[in-house]
Amino acid sequence: MKATCFMGRNTVEVQEVPDPRILNARDAIVKITSTAICGSDLHLVDGYVPTMMHGDVLGHEFMGEVVELGSQVDNLKIGDRVVVPFCIACGVCTACQKELYSLCENSNPNAWMAEKLWGHAGAGAFGYSHLTGGYAGGQAEYARVPFADFGPLKVPDGMPDEQALFLSDILPTGYMGADLCDIEPGDVIAVWGCGPVGQFAIASAFLLGAERVIAIDRFPYRLQMAREHSGAETINYEETNVPDALREMTAGRGPDACIDAVGMEAHGHGPMYAYDRVMQASRMETDRPIALREAIMACRNGGTVSVLGVYGGFIDKFPMGSVMNRALTIRTGQTPVQRYMRPLLERIQNGEIDPTFIITHTLPLEQAPHGYDIFKHKLDGCEKVVLKPGMTPAA
Ligand code: NAD
Ligand code: ZN
Ligand code: ZN
Repeated sequence: MKATCFMGRNTVEVQEVPDPRILNARDAIVKITSTAICGSDLHLVDGYVPTMMHGDVLGHEFMGEVVELGSQVDNLKIGDRVVVPFCIACGVCTACQKELYSLCENSNPNAWMAEKLWGHAGAGAFGYSHLTGGYAGGQAEYARVPFADFGPLKVPDGMPDEQALFLSDILPTGYMGADLCDIEPGDVIAVWGCGPVGQFAIASAFLLGAERVIAIDRFPYRLQMAREHSGAETINYEETNVPDALREMTAGRGPDACIDAVGMEAHGHGPMYAYDRVMQASRMETDRPIALREAIMACRNGGTVSVLGVYGGFIDKFPMGSVMNRALTIRTGQTPVQRYMRPLLERIQNGEIDPTFIITHTLPLEQAPHGYDIFKHKLDGCEKVVLKPGMTPAA
């Protein structure tokens, strides 16, 4: 089959690889109809997540048709359409019982690697390095889905792929970002990053009752989407000093909650950005926490900082004094997608959310390298790329 492969830093190629096979009784094979490129994939391709290997199949946001089933999967049938959560969870371990599905204790065969870096391991994930199990990803024609009797969600008849696909990751992720803020009426929420995750965090903050949402980025077309689709106020950090603007917009107090939808590859200006770039390039820190530091410093006393952006390891100049002295709460996590999928599917069906607004590009799978290029470099107004195996390229 064809699959999008990591061929070394900054190199993505569509290659012929062996078809996946059923390995365990709880596996399914899914023939992929739609898959997407995520900001998290950029961290892999840019070389910031250790343990990626030449030829690894990328992709953790995918859906499709069940074409093969292991003997113990009795809730799915051949031909069912399913959307697959990015984190792989058994559904029965202690973590899964607490609905901490992204921390499943049974799905990461390389837990020992993650334990070395993080103390304890998280769950396995599709296409996300050997730290999370080395599972082949879903930017491909087919994928093997472990614990298929627990994770995949059946897509209702008539619902187009575009409406269901983002239940695999970024819709639950953006929603969790707002959920973790415990929003109360009148709250002002600030969101760093207007990528797909930021857009869904903004929309979800309004859905959960925020009075105002302030969105921060530097790409005018992304800020425009936040304003026009969701009604956010926006700050372009290339033009405006973010801490000053936030203070001014919130009567000097700061936003009630701050959401980091940027993560380890934040961009910035000035000496601090130069410092982080040098520290990251020399492996003295693994991540550039520019947006995170700003979010912490900006948050009102006693507020919440909700961290959706992915961080890999160790960061420097972390403003712990601000967190401690001002009684901030930091909440974060790889999203336990399985917890949010069903309620969000209902919200899509009720018309409360239409996740399709972020899709700017739909390409045949073969054009995945081009998709990575325009998504990474924010070319051609790219917000979110959907890849479709079997789609004929536009003439
Ligand atoms: P993206 O790269 O499209 O978006 C990131 C945005 O942040 C860009 O628009 C960029 O211009 C902006 N940005 C960079 N530096 C900034 C700064 N200093 N201030 C404000 N904005 C800044 O990526 P995405 O797909 O939206 O993903 C965002 C983050 O969420 C990534 O780190 C991704 O790995 C993470 N993520 C986490 C989970 C999870 O389970 N927690 C799931 C999916 C994605
Ligand atoms: Zn993702
Ligand atoms: Zn589990």
